[in-house]
Amino acid sequence: MDILLQGRLDDRSPFCVAYHQEYTHDYAYYASANGMGVAVLFQRGKPLSVTAKEWFPKQLLEDEGLKFSDWHTIGNIAGTPTDSLSNPRLFPGDLILTETLSGMQDPSMVLGVHGALVSGKIAAMVVHGREKATAKFHRMNRWWKEAYLLRRLLRATHP
Ligand SMILES: Cc1cc2nc3c(=O)[nH]c(=O)nc-3n(C[C@H](O)[C@H](O)[C@H](O)COP(=O)(O)OP(=O)(O)OC[C@H]3O[C@@H](n4cnc5c(N)ncnc54)[C@H](O)[C@@H]3O)c2cc1C
Repeated sequence: MDILLQGRLDDRSPFCVAYHQEYTHDYAYYASANGMGVAVLFQRGKPLSVTAKEWFPKQLLEDEGLKFSDWHTIGNIAGTPTDSLSNPRLFPGDLILTETLSGMQDPSMVLGVHGALVSGKIAAMVVHGREKATAKFHRMNRWWKEAYLLRRLLRATHP
């Protein structure tokens, strides 16, 4: 994963703007909450092009008046384990997995904070009863495989 990002204080907080277009297979966004905001452009699978990195700061300035002094590029961030039909999984052997390790992350948009919070709760529930926790884990991930397959289909067919 290749990332271009920057943060700032935002007096419009909470606020969000997102872009889905040709510069990245994934997406770009600026979001703020509690007065703090962050702008992120990222792409899985291949590095961001120079054109893409030039485009995002300009677009934010033009659309939202958001200007940043400098940007940080983070290359080769480890991929999250969303690329397998065997995800998500709670118990490999004697372990109890949560969030990134459990694969409980939205496979299309890579949103994972909700999965982190919910799977953390489920891991704690295991202490009081494996069965109830397992049932909740399956319920929370009921549509995961469909979402994953849909993403594969969109990737294969969308230009
Ligand atoms: C660019 C980007 C944008 C994203 N945007 C969103 C979004 O808008 N919404 C959303 O829901 N999700 C988003 N996600 C995904 C979300 O951030 C992750 O799914 C979530 O943070 C994963 O939670 P986690 O607890 O598994 O891991 P992390 O949040 O990565 O926490 C793991 C922690 O363990 C620490 N650690 C690692 N190794 C060790 C060690 N040996 N000893 C001690 N500590 C260690 C790390 O420093 C880190 O603090 C985004 C991810 C990326 C990369």
